[in-house]
Amino acid sequence: MNIKISDRLNKLPPYLFVEIDRAKTKARQAGKDIIDLGVGDPDQPPPKFIIEALCQAVQDPNIHRYAFDTGQPEFRRSIAAWYKNRFGVDLDPDTEVLPLIGSKEGIAHMPLAFVNPGDTVLVPEPCYPPYKSGSIFAGADIEIMPLLEENSFLPNISKVKKAKKAKLMFVNYPNNPTSAVAGLDFFNKVVEFAQRNNIIVCHDAAYSEINYDGYKPDSFLTADGAKEVAVEFHSLSKTFNMTGWRVGFACGNAKIIAGLAKVKSNIDSGIFNAIQQAGAIALNTKSDHIEKINRMYQERRDALVDGLNSIGWKVSKPKATFYVWARVPKGHDSMKLAGRLLEEADIVATPGVGFGASGEGFIRMTLTVPVERLKEAVRRIGEII
Ligand code: PLP
Repeated sequence: MNIKISDRLNKLPPYLFVEIDRAKTKARQAGKDIIDLGVGDPDQPPPKFIIEALCQAVQDPNIHRYAFDTGQPEFRRSIAAWYKNRFGVDLDPDTEVLPLIGSKEGIAHMPLAFVNPGDTVLVPEPCYPPYKSGSIFAGADIEIMPLLEENSFLPNISKVKKAKKAKLMFVNYPNNPTSAVAGLDFFNKVVEFAQRNNIIVCHDAAYSEINYDGYKPDSFLTADGAKEVAVEFHSLSKTFNMTGWRVGFACGNAKIIAGLAKVKSNIDSGIFNAIQQAGAIALNTKSDHIEKINRMYQERRDALVDGLNSIGWKVSKPKATFYVWARVPKGHDSMKLAGRLLEEADIVATPGVGFGASGEGFIRMTLTVPVERLKEAVRRIGEII
């Protein structure tokens, strides 16, 4: 039989992290002491009270059945309460909140709900890859909004060419991979642009809780009129070190939420109920967990950035996210530099170009390894570059 993959799959760029994982596994199998600054996956476990909540929840004999597609009401209520407390935004837990099997799932499915083949989706670049792949699956025409250093890694929306054909746009602050942050003035401009052109805004706030030096990101939904045009994606992954649990949520405009829920009800059958119960406890419980992980990442950030600067790189300290977006030293391109780091220094880092052509000239390093390993990474880099 002649098995052929679909045109839509053929259109996808290679999923960068899979490629990097392959190279990393090969190097590890060859016995190398790899320092992995590649994938953004917290190295610490979730706090004990969340693990205990899950252990208790799975004891209930009735909890193992299919979950509601739209999530347990109790979990939705805990999301709305957390949101009000953290951002001061009111959400109706029944119509404006939708639990997701990780925010990636919702982000990738979103265009299927609102984009027809040939419609335009506005995608920032460099970017988290599912903005592009989800749009390609929906048959969209992608217009890239480059995130340039001279614009503080914010898209210049006045330069968008196909605003009238665009149905949806992705925005992401605090940003992966650039670690840039955005304020309300920028969010207000995006809302005004979206209202004028009838574009749905999907703001990805997966890193809103990872922040330093007293900086606290705003929710996109605090912008004037945002709820008329936008939904925001959140994740328990980075906030509570729960990446493997697969739990996140979308919230905001009820019609947009309903569209995404309709796609999902045809594809998945919800998040395991025990995870939703533990997720509700994660959001409802006052603890010092977030302050603790932020202190830890901040110490790592300082070790890596100060270290790189001490060997002649020019890197600034991010205010949020656990990524360092470093301009590659003169004479290198990002792919070659990442290749040299892996081959000559046993360090995995992600070339900026892997997040799209606009990422060229930078390399992304994560803060998900201990300070001592980051210092060792700097030492090794200093020896070869
Ligand atoms: N959004 C951004 C910008 C990310 O970097 C990630 C994960 O790395 C996600 C969303 C997805 O997180 P999850 O699917 O675990 O909620």
